Amino acid sequence: MEYDMGPAVEWAVKNGYAKVLVQVPDGLIPVAGEIASEFEKEGMEAVVWMGGNFGACDAADPRIAGCDALIHIGHAEMPNLELDYPVYFHELGDESDVIPALRNALNEVEGPVGLLTTVQHVHKLQDVKDFLERKGIVVYIGNPTGRVKYPGQVLGCNFSPALMVRSKVNMYIYIGTGRFHPLGAAMVTGKKVLAVDPHTGRHEIIESGERFLRVRYGLIAKAMDFKRAAILVSTKPGQNRMGIAEQLKEKVKEMGKSADILIMDKISPQSLLGSGYDIYVSTACPRIALDDHMNYDRPILTVREFEVVLGTRKEWAMDCML
Ligand code: SF4
Repeated sequence: MEYDMGPAVEWAVKNGYAKVLVQVPDGLIPVAGEIASEFEKEGMEAVVWMGGNFGACDAADPRIAGCDALIHIGHAEMPNLELDYPVYFHELGDESDVIPALRNALNEVEGPVGLLTTVQHVHKLQDVKDFLERKGIVVYIGNPTGRVKYPGQVLGCNFSPALMVRSKVNMYIYIGTGRFHPLGAAMVTGKKVLAVDPHTGRHEIIESGERFLRVRYGLIAKAMDFKRAAILVSTKPGQNRMGIAEQLKEKVKEMGKSADILIMDKISPQSLLGSGYDIYVSTACPRIALDDHMNYDRPILTVREFEVVLGTRKEWAMDCML
């Protein structure tokens, strides 16, 4: 992964920080020391955070390390997330050419289309739009709301740019790797998504997510008879939903069942193993329950799935922390 820390170093120098905490994504861990030394060359002290970097929702608190500011690398800031410490969000753009993979997928495109991507490719969306328009395809890029910064950008917990253009498009084109984001967009909008991976050059149509829904309803069914629930809360600033956890606990008590709120930084299967609960309910990142459920020793549900168990919601719905 390429990086240029120039703007982040400049920001730290300009603000007169003496000591910074550097939070790198997994792909940059091998060069974390080199990144830290870029700040030290300018007379600052730098400490490297090794507690993970899941998103801007996970911005580490520099005060824990006695630092003046955080340099968070790899994600765009979340406009609606207020942090009470100085942070520089240093985005990393992926410079892969997305057009060859898109050209191979053109026969799958039925316009008008909405364009979606993650922050790594967001600067390429205009090239993609121009390319498609030259082919006579009408293209929309939806504006973001809440925690999303850029038009067309999606997060695993926010698909607002997709919803914004839903009524105008036949389908979406997602530029990026993996299935989670395009599947999420398909589930939230009910429209098909052409996922185009600029790294492998492959593409795939993702539609209703029926198999995914079967798995989720299976977990909901298993959770119906629970007696003791663990309601999980994360201390990560953009994942902390203590208020919702308290409301859920209250509702469980009204039903004559029992629930405890468990709070931790990183929710993991290891931290809960042998804890004795019948089910886990994650109020943190929805991906914990949706992507990793098979690693937990009990059914793990999102908030909206648990609402189905509690009878306060009728149908499955994507958990979004807009
Ligand atoms: S999907 Fe999860 S990790 Fe990604 S931004 Fe949302 S809460 Fe954070």
